Amino acid sequence: MEPELIKDCVHCGFCLPTCPTYVLWGEEMDSPRGRIHLMGQHVEGTPITPAMAGHFDACLGCMACVTACPSGVRYDLLIEQTRAEVEREHVREPQERAVRGLVFGLFPYPRRLRALRPTLGVARRLQPLLERAHPSLGAMIALAPAPGRRQRLPRRVTAVGPRRAVVGMLTGCVQGEFFPQVNAATARVLALEGCDVVIPPHQGCCGALSVHSGRSDQARRFARRTIRTFERAGVDTIVVNAAGCGSSMKEYAELLGDSQEWAARARAIRTVDLAEWLAELGPVAKRHPLPVSVAYHDACHLAHAQGIRAQPRELLRGIPELSLKEIPESDLCCGSAGTYNIFQPAAARDLGDRKAARVRSTGAELLVSANPGCTMQIAAAMRRRGEEIRVAHTAEVLDASLRGVSPSVLGATGRGGRDGSGPGTRGRDGGRPRGGLA
Ligand code: SF4
Ligand code: SF4
Repeated sequence: MEPELIKDCVHCGFCLPTCPTYVLWGEEMDSPRGRIHLMGQHVEGTPITPAMAGHFDACLGCMACVTACPSGVRYDLLIEQTRAEVEREHVREPQERAVRGLVFGLFPYPRRLRALRPTLGVARRLQPLLERAHPSLGAMIALAPAPGRRQRLPRRVTAVGPRRAVVGMLTGCVQGEFFPQVNAATARVLALEGCDVVIPPHQGCCGALSVHSGRSDQARRFARRTIRTFERAGVDTIVVNAAGCGSSMKEYAELLGDSQEWAARARAIRTVDLAEWLAELGPVAKRHPLPVSVAYHDACHLAHAQGIRAQPRELLRGIPELSLKEIPESDLCCGSAGTYNIFQPAAARDLGDRKAARVRSTGAELLVSANPGCTMQIAAAMRRRGEEIRVAHTAEVLDASLRGVSPSVLGATGRGGRDGSGPGTRGRDGGRPRGGLA
């Protein structure tokens, strides 16, 4: 760990009210300042105790403290390095090791996720049993959405009208398997905005889950493979529609910093979030009215980690007749945070419930976010309240407007993805992307 990063903290406490775990429990050691203090103790020779590991594990990695800190403390780097130390030094209980082994042996592998799809129905029926066996198993099943209809993406989707750019597209693990309709919508929107979209098959995981959990070797392996995949595809700009993946990929050069060659290859590729890219490109495709009220949720890895707040709102406000509602306390994490809601189900549940109440207070018909984890988390919290809310990705909302379809095609209730190929999705323009997308 880099001790200089720890010294940047002047203990002012400005970050405390923005930290979800401090908001929940009011404990100094569950605040950014407290955690940095523990990191300092460890650097000075204190071994990682189970209590210390507990405080680090309880951190969501939401980066609200990075946004709040006036001294520019790089808590993002600090917690990443600390998690790697925890994984190296701290011996977890056998049950916890088994659950972690299951999650990290499954989630970053799309083929394994795919093989699991048919068993989800049975797993749901066994949920109370699994919950008793281990709360993390129960949480995993409670959160899982019904997978959207599988949709094979073409290797290239051609721009509609004059070509303005050629970009690669990351398909993601969870996004690709459980929300294929989001990837299809992303490719259509990009094509309708004048981009040729290159979609290499068999992309695998970008490494986000691993890097956020201290599994640095695995993260580096996945990062190198992702870079290689897009180099071979001949693109140097990669558009990403999942906030957690995008924030990790933007830090590939730091992750691969122990090799000059790989750091240079990482720097040669530009990762952009979908909303960031579309705002930069500027709109050309006609927006059709979409009469629907939308609550936009800031995913932490988009707002805090990438500083992207204005662009998605700008895109949504550009849709005629769409009414955009702000969610109170929008900077506070919903409790999803990658695998947090699986490994820390109680805290995640409290944060999810708090977020669901704020979302409900907007009265919006549709909840929109740019991260599949947030969507699943908030939809599950809504169900616990006995309520349902339709959820959609920003890409799906734009896609519906560009194609002039009814807003009623948007959004499952977090339990199942719409495949986007239902009635009315053909649109009014007839300007349809070529490359096999409906
Ligand atoms: S990353 Fe989030 S949960 Fe962790 S210390 Fe910072 S604000 Fe708190
Ligand atoms: S992390 Fe930043 S905001 Fe928080 S106590 Fe340290 S210097 Fe202050």
